[in-house]
Amino acid sequence: MPPFAEARVDLGAISENIAVLRRHAPASQVMGVVKADGYGHGMLPAARAMLAGGATWLGTAFIEEAMELRRAGIDTRTVAWILPPGAPLTEAIDAGIDLGVSALWLVESITAAARETGRPARVHLKVDTGLNRGGVVGDQWPAVVEAAARAEAAGLLRVAGVFSHFACSDEPGHSSIKAQLSAFHDALEVAERAGLRPEVRHLANSAATLTLPESHFDLVRPGIAGYGLSPIPDLAGTGLRPAMTLRSAIALVKRVPEGGGVSYGHRYVTDRSTTLALVPLGYGDGVPRAATNRAPVFAAGRRRTIAGTVCMDQFVLDLGDDADADTAEAGDYAVLFGAGEGGEPTAQDWASVLDTIPYEIVTRISPRVPRVYV
Ligand code: PLP
Repeated sequence: MPPFAEARVDLGAISENIAVLRRHAPASQVMGVVKADGYGHGMLPAARAMLAGGATWLGTAFIEEAMELRRAGIDTRTVAWILPPGAPLTEAIDAGIDLGVSALWLVESITAAARETGRPARVHLKVDTGLNRGGVVGDQWPAVVEAAARAEAAGLLRVAGVFSHFACSDEPGHSSIKAQLSAFHDALEVAERAGLRPEVRHLANSAATLTLPESHFDLVRPGIAGYGLSPIPDLAGTGLRPAMTLRSAIALVKRVPEGGGVSYGHRYVTDRSTTLALVPLGYGDGVPRAATNRAPVFAAGRRRTIAGTVCMDQFVLDLGDDADADTAEAGDYAVLFGAGEGGEPTAQDWASVLDTIPYEIVTRISPRVPRVYV
């Protein structure tokens, strides 16, 4: 008996997506970004699939995520780039995790941690080239570079990388892209003048990997594209294949009369006698409540729209009166999103309907939904 609901993850698709990205950036290494539980796909299987596809680095937001990779025996070079005060720096250095550096005080605390552990810390200096999120802002960059160079000379740090992150690479042609590229080149020059010789200079996320060869440098850092979702809604023909299919067995099918209000608040009312199907997935599973009366689901032979309010554990589909609806029964699958090859919507379709991005759709699927690897 299969679970009612499952997020099926096609690991072969993840490997193949990385291979596709390598073909887009043939002269660069690929870092597979596996933060946030591999964008909801399961961090460990996703990481292994990315490595099988040719990734040679992994990227996480937090040290704790990188430590989980290490505990699972994955020793691939891994960068963790969000290090709030209190982050376990000594453990990370001991585990050979590369650390992203976004501020002078981090150079100091990582150096102190390296002294404590007795081994040099590998760091990637992150320059803020215009995202105004993480990264060292331009006027502080020389000071950070100098401090890192001194710590490197003292044998406490090894500056393995210099990197930055785009703000608008998902809008090809956006004026900020050129400005960020140029600021990155300037920052690299400052680092070079200070005597730093990073192994890898890296800037490109998925969108830039796919559309901006001049941003590839030594390493590209795709996340979403590895999972087969395009960062750019109308980027056709990328050869990427969505890896996750979210589906559930229908729990109940029943006939109801015309004029019946459906689900909490009666926000959907049947306009004829009809067949309703109850799908046991709700916002407790990460299906957005905003999908109420809006999101598409493939069931009983075609796409339907969710009828009425999405509840914590369930929502309803109106299957109507057609012949397909007549044959529907409990146990049949309803597919919320997948690769789109069998008529089902994609996570991008859900994102478009819900005015969000596919990243949010896949990442929010909660641990209650078993991941099934195929
Ligand atoms: N690099 C950094 C620093 C990131 O924060 C992220 C994701 O947010 C990525 C790369 C991957 O981005 P994407 O999923 O758009 O490829």
